[in-house]
Amino acid sequence: SYFFFGTMGAYSQNSGLKSSVQEVETKVDSVLNLMTLEEKVGQMVQYNGSWDLTGPASEVGNKEKEERLKKGLVGSMLNVLSVEATEKAQRMNMENSRMKIPLIFGYDVIHGYKTIFPVPLGETASWDLDAAKESARIAALESVAEGVNWTFSPMIDISRDARWGRIMEGSGEDPYLTAKIAVAKVNGYQGEDLADPNTIAATAKHFAGYGLAEGGKDYNAVNIGKHELHNMVLPPFKAAADAGVATFMNSFNTIDGIPATGSERLQRDILKGAWDWQGFVVSDWGSISEMIPHGFARDKVHAAEIAVTAGSDMDMEGGAYEAGLAQLVNEGKIDEALIDEAVKRILRVKFKMGLFEDPYKYMNADLKKNVPYEEHRKTARDIAKKSIVLLKNENDLLPIKSSVKKIAVIGPLADDKDTPIGNWRAQGEANSAVSVLEGLKNTDLKAKMTYAKGVTLGEGERSFLMPLKINKTDRSGIPDAVAKAKDAELVVMVLGEDAFQSGEGRSQANIGLAGLQLELLKEVHKVNKNIVLVLMNGRPIEITWASENIPAIVEAWQLGTESGNAIADVLLGKYNPSGKLPVSFPRAVGQEPLYYNRMNTGRPSNDQHVTYSHYTDITNGPLYPFGYGLSYTSFEYGEPNLSSSELNTGGSATLTVSVTNTGDVKGKEVVQLYLHDLVASVARPIKELKGFEMVELAPGETKNVEFTIDDKMLEFYTASEKWEAEEGEFELMVGGNSEDLKTVKLNFNK
Ligand code: BGC
Repeated sequence: SYFFFGTMGAYSQNSGLKSSVQEVETKVDSVLNLMTLEEKVGQMVQYNGSWDLTGPASEVGNKEKEERLKKGLVGSMLNVLSVEATEKAQRMNMENSRMKIPLIFGYDVIHGYKTIFPVPLGETASWDLDAAKESARIAALESVAEGVNWTFSPMIDISRDARWGRIMEGSGEDPYLTAKIAVAKVNGYQGEDLADPNTIAATAKHFAGYGLAEGGKDYNAVNIGKHELHNMVLPPFKAAADAGVATFMNSFNTIDGIPATGSERLQRDILKGAWDWQGFVVSDWGSISEMIPHGFARDKVHAAEIAVTAGSDMDMEGGAYEAGLAQLVNEGKIDEALIDEAVKRILRVKFKMGLFEDPYKYMNADLKKNVPYEEHRKTARDIAKKSIVLLKNENDLLPIKSSVKKIAVIGPLADDKDTPIGNWRAQGEANSAVSVLEGLKNTDLKAKMTYAKGVTLGEGERSFLMPLKINKTDRSGIPDAVAKAKDAELVVMVLGEDAFQSGEGRSQANIGLAGLQLELLKEVHKVNKNIVLVLMNGRPIEITWASENIPAIVEAWQLGTESGNAIADVLLGKYNPSGKLPVSFPRAVGQEPLYYNRMNTGRPSNDQHVTYSHYTDITNGPLYPFGYGLSYTSFEYGEPNLSSSELNTGGSATLTVSVTNTGDVKGKEVVQLYLHDLVASVARPIKELKGFEMVELAPGETKNVEFTIDDKMLEFYTASEKWEAEEGEFELMVGGNSEDLKTVKLNFNK
């Protein structure tokens, strides 16, 4: 039966409690059965709504879009950014269309909506899953207060190339850590029940391989084999699917020659087939039509045919589905069942969100008044300080002593209130973050503080997809900075990347300190060696000179609204840093792609013989490895102990390791577990993260950390194309980063 009551979209009397799967399916079918082909195709169309929806439609294109909205030929809009605008669009649709199927409103809420949290790469450095979930919950709350009920997040593309501008948007190089973050994010955004108006639908993106673009160049081809795909790229997506993420977004890139958007294998066989996932796939922006320049489709109609056959359900602002689907069905080129399947998936999400019961539930101006923005800022500060990674701390410079009399705060990012907001900033306001200078001034430090910008980094227009101009010529501020450094006891230098150096379309061939920053650092270093270097960046940057010459280095990413306060918390020791790198830092850009979970070669030796796998002009390995991060205290690991060195299918063993705080302040340590399968049907990485545990220890305190080892943990996508554990010998390694590890052996018998 079909519960259709007319104008206000009261499709059912369901009270908003979580509907059963069967109930939802019945409703979906009852709606689908009444739809014309044109209306069905309409559900598969998503429009960009950044034109002024609250005023009259101005451009011809937008007028047409409004007409189509009124006819119910649009399923979703993106970038409609206020309660007034979303309500207007929803009314156009609900009050004029025949079927009255509510729109959903998508937006890139990537690391906060108004309250901005660290960029995802930075937040991942906290290794704190509660934090990852909480920032997503808050972002959801702030989004729904503006009518947005669907985020295109989390981005869970594995990336190992610091040149790729979008590395800031993901969780780095490791599939295990990324999968954990993915689940935390999905749970944070979607809550327990999508029908709860305080939650938003999430998107796992970009499916798949986008982060492995050749040469780190955005949108570039991806050439990986099936084992790399299954073992490295897909696990976070599988985890998100299992966690019930409402939607997936496919990706721009080709993968082994096939555009991901047109990949039947990825979308139908794996995602909707083997994984049995029930949500819908939205294309990336125009990615269906982009199959034309890829040389994979002749025209929009052909692109639509390929994409719908492959399992792409909604066309984001690409015009291909609108142009082609109805025609393709009418000409008998595709079966209408394909359209039905896509529409069912879209309707299913809308029903689960409770939109049919109340299409305006997210459009409540009063909601905004009740959002506890002040509380959100406190959480933002808390998460920001947890995301900071201490890379180096010599000469007892940190934490800053209360006895220090004069501090020079120097650098183009020292009083920058914009860069900490990062790229993909949703409605986080430009120039609204707490700068480092402000953060230090907010503390009870007695020291006199001077400030000099020294050099300028980014100049000119700073907006989405506009190339950023870097200043490379203006040295006029350097003498003042040098004078202030000379006159101070301690220098806090803030360098790194402008917010608009990373993000979409912002790949770089160079990843050093851009512009005149290194020159400034060297000039300051000539007059004062007591430098604490605070880095702000959206990608790993090349800091080899700094790491050899500067005694203290603090990695502070782009930490969001509360950045400066969080950095001051760490610099003063009010918070003992606990972050660990989610990505390797290179010695030189020529080492990229660089990642710890690599395969061995046939020439693995580490001696100086010329024929081992290395570059002849640089030390092998990263400058700072994956999982690395210091504390103001020190930790000592005992020898790991395994309850049994033999494991059988279905059995388990316990690995125990003691960790002692050997310093004199309280601190937190992320204890990491890695695994190596020594001989397998497919060559396996030299180590792979398989578990981690955060422990807090008082000075002198020891705790035992336990990991349960079972055959699930040993599984990988084998030569027989199944996830399974293979018999043989394994090494289990524990420690505080991916290089400093203690090993025990395990034998697995089926
Ligand atoms: C990006 C997506 C994003 C979409 C909508 C695309 O260019 O690749 O990640 O969600 O735009 O803004």
